[in-house]
Order: sequence, then C-alpha cells, then structure tokens
Amino acid sequence: MTVEIKIENLSVKKGHKTSGYIPVPQTDLSLPVTIINGEKVGKTVLITSGIHNAEYTGIQTAIELAAELQPDEVNGCLILIHPVNISGFENRTMSAVAEDGKNLNRLFPGNPNGTIGDKIAHFIVTAFFSQTDYFIDLHAGDGFETLTPYVYYVGAASAAVVEQSKAMAEKINVPYMVKSFIATGGAYNYAGSCGIPGILIERGGEARWSKTEIHLYKADVKNVLRSLKVLAGAVDQNAQKPVDVVDVIYEIARVTGCWYPDKKPGELVKKGAMLGVIKDYFGKVLAICEAEHDGVVLYQVSSLCIIEDDTLIAYGKIAV
Ligand SMILES: [Zn+2]
Repeated sequence: MTVEIKIENLSVKKGHKTSGYIPVPQTDLSLPVTIINGEKVGKTVLITSGIHNAEYTGIQTAIELAAELQPDEVNGCLILIHPVNISGFENRTMSAVAEDGKNLNRLFPGNPNGTIGDKIAHFIVTAFFSQTDYFIDLHAGDGFETLTPYVYYVGAASAAVVEQSKAMAEKINVPYMVKSFIATGGAYNYAGSCGIPGILIERGGEARWSKTEIHLYKADVKNVLRSLKVLAGAVDQNAQKPVDVVDVIYEIARVTGCWYPDKKPGELVKKGAMLGVIKDYFGKVLAICEAEHDGVVLYQVSSLCIIEDDTLIAYGKIAV
C-alpha cells in the first residue's frame, strides 16, 4: 500500500493533492506537475500532455483534470504533467524542444548526457515511469496537422501488456485505433517495452482547442480511469467503439513546396486515388501522392507549406 508518493521535490501524503514545478536535472527547465494521491488504494496512472507542445487539446485537458479531480474520488494515484515540453510551449514552437529543435516523442528513453530534449526524456523515464502502472499520453494533430480522432496502443511488448493497452484504447470514444509496433522513440512505446500498458490519444489539432473537444477528451480519460478502477463508477458504453486500422502508410514528402491535399481526415480512399499534390511556387507539379491501398485517412498536413521528409498524410486499412 502506497502511503506517500514522492517525485523529486514533490511529495504527497495519502489523501492529498499537490501541484508544483519539478526541475529537470542539468537543465534550467521545470515541469508543471500535479499529483493526486487518492484516499483509497489502487494503481498509479501517469498522464502526460504537451510532449508535442502545440497540441493544445491534450494540454488543456490535463490542466483541467489536474484542477478538477480530487483525492477523495481517486483510488490509487494520478500523476499529471501539463505540459512536458515546457520550453517549446513558451516559445510557441511546433513539436520541437526549443533548445535543440528535436521532436521529444522520438527521443525515449533519452540520455542524461545528451541535449535538453534527451535529458527531458531520460528524466520522464527515471523519475516518472519508475512509479507508473498505466500510462496515458495526450496528443493532437500538430499545429500544421488535421486529423480524425483516434488512439494508438502499445503493440511491441509482452502479450499481457498489449492486451491491457488495447483494452484501454477500446474505452476511448473515437472511430479508430492503431496498434503500434515500435518499442522506443515515443514515450508510450518505450513505457510499453518497460511493462507499462499505455495509449496515445489523438484529438484536435492545428494549434487550436475548444470547450467541446476538451469535454470529449476529459470524458475519454475518465472512462479509461474508471476501467482501471482508479475512478469509481461504471465504464461508459461509448457511441463509438474504435476499430483497428492496420497497414498504416505514413507517406513522406519527397520535396519541399506547396501542399494541396485532395482528401479530408476520416475520408475513405480507394487504391490509386489522388491524395494530393506538391507544387512549386509557380504552380508546377513536383510530386503526386496516390493511395497505395484502400483505407481511411487518419491525419494529414493542413499547412500550405510542406517540408521534404515530413509525413504528408497517414492512412490505413480498416480491419474487418
Ligand atoms: Zn503529438
């Protein structure tokens, strides 16, 4: 039975809640963290937001959950970081850690002797994953991306961890879920390979957020927490139960230029269908993107600017 939760300078007795900044070792950064140490025993759930700092729906959801949830309704412990990429947030970058330009969700498990991003990832692993039973990572489309809501779950882990991760994903009220086969790089991927079941939720994008999206996002997180018995109450039978999308193609831009997408997120596409074109500044077509197989569009870049080697569009087959 856990009596006191302690993460670096923050310690929280059973039945209490604390919010404060936790310094990242060997950096000038401090992360805003809330720990809700429930009155009753249960599992510890880590909820991270803003690993990609322009994904505001996830960040605002974590901020509101941290403010609203109380120790008397929590069985176990909730740890929320809101947001993780604090320097990116305060410099309004898109995804990148301000100091090194790196995508934090490609750096796990991190490196204490690396750049600032590497150090943040290492710190999340050593200080937070070490105390985590389940992991929920809140994302959205980036500032230049639009998407249909969906959820990733850990797929490169033990059978039990994969099964529990999928069960978490199925509690999310979205049409699609994607099993991830990566074991490092992303925070939840690496957590999975450490034996922590986890999901990454995608809802919102284009550096916007709305009360409607936050309402839906909070309902999703609470439903997972009820299924893990960390919150009391019956698990909602959502309007949508996500179905697996498989063979996801992350189409890469071959050139830098102007991007003219032909489809919208959530749209079904047929093999050979035009997905969009890249043109130069004079209207000359530089590249044509066509669907390699039937599927559904999960997300795509929505900015006019497309940069070589960026993911243009992601789509996959709806499993039957
Ligand atoms: Zn993200």
